[in-house]
Amino acid sequence: MAENERYEDSQLYSIRHSAAHVMAQAVVEMFPDAKYTIGPPIEDGFYYDFDLPRTLTPEDLKSLEKRMRQIIAGKYPFEKQVLSAGEAREIFADQSYKLELIDGLEQGGFDEYGNPLDEVPEISIYKHDHFIDLCRGPHVENTGKINPSALKLLNVAGAYWRGDEKRPMLQRIYGTAWKTSQELEEYLWKLEEAKKRDHRRLGKELDLFSVSDDVGAGLILWHPKGGMVRKLAEDYCREEHERGEYDFVYSPHIGKAALWETSGHLDWYQENMYSPLDIEGQEYYLKPMNCPFHIKIYQSSMRSYRDLPLRYAEWGTVYRYERSGVLHGLLRVRGFTQDDAHLFCRPDQMPAEIDRVLQFSLNILRAFGFDHFQAYLSTRNPEKAAGAPEQWEAPTEALRQALIRTEVPYQVDEGEATFYGPKIDIKVKDALGREWQLSTIQFDFTLPERFDLTFIGDDGQEHRPYMIHRALLGSMERFMGVLIEHHAGAFPVWLMPVQAVLIPIADRHIPYAEKVLDQLKDEGIRAEVDARGERMNAKIRDAQRQKIPYMLVVGDREVENEQVALRLRSGENPGAMSVPEFINRCQKDISDRK
Ligand SMILES: [Zn+2]
Ligand SMILES: [Zn+2]
Repeated sequence: MAENERYEDSQLYSIRHSAAHVMAQAVVEMFPDAKYTIGPPIEDGFYYDFDLPRTLTPEDLKSLEKRMRQIIAGKYPFEKQVLSAGEAREIFADQSYKLELIDGLEQGGFDEYGNPLDEVPEISIYKHDHFIDLCRGPHVENTGKINPSALKLLNVAGAYWRGDEKRPMLQRIYGTAWKTSQELEEYLWKLEEAKKRDHRRLGKELDLFSVSDDVGAGLILWHPKGGMVRKLAEDYCREEHERGEYDFVYSPHIGKAALWETSGHLDWYQENMYSPLDIEGQEYYLKPMNCPFHIKIYQSSMRSYRDLPLRYAEWGTVYRYERSGVLHGLLRVRGFTQDDAHLFCRPDQMPAEIDRVLQFSLNILRAFGFDHFQAYLSTRNPEKAAGAPEQWEAPTEALRQALIRTEVPYQVDEGEATFYGPKIDIKVKDALGREWQLSTIQFDFTLPERFDLTFIGDDGQEHRPYMIHRALLGSMERFMGVLIEHHAGAFPVWLMPVQAVLIPIADRHIPYAEKVLDQLKDEGIRAEVDARGERMNAKIRDAQRQKIPYMLVVGDREVENEQVALRLRSGENPGAMSVPEFINRCQKDISDRK
């Protein structure tokens, strides 16, 4: 794709869109009673949802792919026709889902995929061969423009019609299409690699976390090893926050309805909040955010210009409603802990404060092994924005200048800010080049107004402070998911729950291994002895599978020379060394955050 070209305008998008139509034709030929619904291009491919008389098998996908290649070879042109809703209804008379989509198009408010839309769209169909789909394009000229050797159907998954669990369950066929077979190969390799790195699979293999049906979907149970990784991450961040002159605060999980009314959450965020609890006739809500509590701490006493800036940090656990259909491992959950902070400052302190928080965020992300960042600056949307346009200028400019100074590549998302203020989002690129949104630095013009926040200036008058929301790793749950996938479970040494394992070759080497273990523990190295009766190779294999950075083999020679034979999880074999030598090496890797 050319740089800065929108995906929607790219050739690949048209190819995938067209491939989805070709696939739908093949499916309808295989199942004449098939109801076809929507089939958009997505990142790296396309899908199409069908209501079918039976469940699809992998063999079906093979024959569908074969038929698709025939249709491609036919070089059928894609022909567009604009028509009225009535005409469209006639064409799709026996396609109930399409009829529902046509209603949406006619009323406006929805596009042909059922996504919300601001305008009333024109209704159009695309026809190739004898297959017609409701669609506004764009498409390639003819089916022959799809490269048959750069096309593959990947899998079938269940998907509710319109993502609504009360509506029918459909079968979603995922496919991918590229310009060249080489691009397809690369993509398939990446998919395989992503499967190996899947945090849900590694979470089980490394015994990091689980989700229990008895507890509930989207609620994470952190096991001791995952808990250790989280603790280490939090400890490190807490130290950095302390150095960064943040104050630590703690707040409860619930708050009165009136609080969420003042904050506005009940107006604009209620669909993400759980039903209220009744406590002595008063309604309380589980918190979806920590902000109102931190504001109340700010308001607990009179603030003077000398007190500012104030930086309140909390690892605050929040609860947000997510449909069960979108929950996904650690990445999309219903309860999670944010590494949240709220900054309150005077207007004159604001640029320095932004610089500081941005630099702070990047330094911490780097410590976790991320070095590729992409920042997004969201600016004012004139249609919906709190405060006067002039109010937005200084903060937006401060965010921009801070980005320029950090030299992180950034992109301006014009008009993409939420109504309460401009923001910076920082995405990291992982080992597979996938982008993950982690940090957010969000200005807020509304909450200081709503809660009537003030400080007394050097003129003795009341002034309004600036307020900035900031989450750095974002949610600890999600961050852990990203971290697992980025490192494929082989976290940097400083984050490993077990850093070294001692592997005695025979039982007679166990006492020596235990002596070394004590020495390592004294030096703060997390180590254990694998005293099982297994063979050495099996123990090494298990340690590799657990991604343990250092394997220390001890046999007769090591006992005699008071050494350990070091093997690394990378497969390297540095060999025998004295225990103090190993400790030095290990501690250096830890302090280098390798
Ligand atoms: Zn189309
Ligand atoms: Zn906040």
